[in-house]
Amino acid sequence: MNTPADLASFWMPFTANRHFKQHPTLVTGAEGAYFIRPDGGRLFDCLSGLWCTPLGHARPEILAAVRAQVGELDFAPTFQVGHPKAFELAARITQCAPRGLDRVFFTNSGSEAVDSSLKIALAYHHARGESSRVRIIGRERAYHGVGIGGISAGGIAANRRVFGALSAPFVDHLPHTHDLAQMAFSRGQPAWGAHLADALERLVALHDASTIAAVIVEPMQGSTGVIVPPIGYLERLREICTRYGILLIFDEVITGFGRLGANFAAQRLGVTPDIIVFAKAVTNGVIPLGGTIVDRRIYDTLMRGPEQVIELFHGYTYSGHPIACAAGLATLDVLESGNWVGRAAQLAQVLEDAMHSLREEPHVIDIRNFGLAAAVELRPREGQPGARGREAFERGIDAGLLLRFTADTIAVAPPFICSEEEIVNMIESLRGVLRRIGR
Ligand code: PLP
Repeated sequence: MNTPADLASFWMPFTANRHFKQHPTLVTGAEGAYFIRPDGGRLFDCLSGLWCTPLGHARPEILAAVRAQVGELDFAPTFQVGHPKAFELAARITQCAPRGLDRVFFTNSGSEAVDSSLKIALAYHHARGESSRVRIIGRERAYHGVGIGGISAGGIAANRRVFGALSAPFVDHLPHTHDLAQMAFSRGQPAWGAHLADALERLVALHDASTIAAVIVEPMQGSTGVIVPPIGYLERLREICTRYGILLIFDEVITGFGRLGANFAAQRLGVTPDIIVFAKAVTNGVIPLGGTIVDRRIYDTLMRGPEQVIELFHGYTYSGHPIACAAGLATLDVLESGNWVGRAAQLAQVLEDAMHSLREEPHVIDIRNFGLAAAVELRPREGQPGARGREAFERGIDAGLLLRFTADTIAVAPPFICSEEEIVNMIESLRGVLRRIGR
């Protein structure tokens, strides 16, 4: 297939549209760990799509489930009626989740799931008679999608700047945990930084616990460039939240379903939040689906009042869409039967060793990794932040890699199905890319 004649009409998300349309990079197919280009060339899928295709592309079991579902039940509402696969998938998801988190609310994306989690937190406190708890605490550099709740709690300046007028008024932010002077080139969780969780104590003192509904954090910050939680940091956040009756929400849109070598970061780290937000890998990216997994006590608190009255005035036309649920069930089947989460844990060590071998390459100021995810941060070019990251991305395409860059940080999170050799080859190609980046 050739380049479409009209590139103008599609306003591309999170893309420099004018630049792209001058220098388009198209893919027209995908199989396993590779995208296929219009000329038949292949690009290694270094970030599993956008963190969403851990089982690789065109996984036959998932394709078969989707095809069958389209023929059987293409759409059914989930408002006041139900279809079996939504119930089945919810139950299966709770089996993957930490004990106690056993109620699932479906959405279509991570952004919707984040906003749903914030609404559930407020509704919970309201139902308990603490309707003054409306404040949300996020964190600097956090990415929680692009809904109003998500950009308000989020901490990426460019995503918030222009939209201040729409932002939720009752938010505050914890400091991020990234400090190169203390943790550059850490392998896995940095030893420094647990004390940064104590900033929550200060926010409680400032705003009073009676105004705070929830703290939302990504256990590992992905979109801002793989920022790994310091040892003990999330434990301390958990303690402080519990002490003050504040709900702890883990946004596991990236970490959910195996990326860190356990079903959820909560299990990998031994810290149980009150709500988990998920999306992406739950359907292996084939059909959009997201949701929140909620502690039973939150759900039970909201199940009150006359039984024929709706308990939560919230939902999406496509919450629990049958085709997405079929894709989700097939994805969980494959993840489990192939022990792919265990495989991700094995490959994590290969990725760590390969990634840290880039330490002496040009411009490298940090390498970090956790589970099957890693990042290399480059020193910004004088007066041109982000230029080296973009150059790495473009040179990566020439080298057969589809890389992801955020400013001058390049993140990788390869599919669980790739071989050790493919991971080593990816890093060797990245080495070549780094050596070719201009001064
Ligand atoms: N939360 C986190 C942690 C994410 O990484 C993302 C997307 O990358 C989102 C939320 C938003 O998900 P979506 O793009 O599906 O709305």
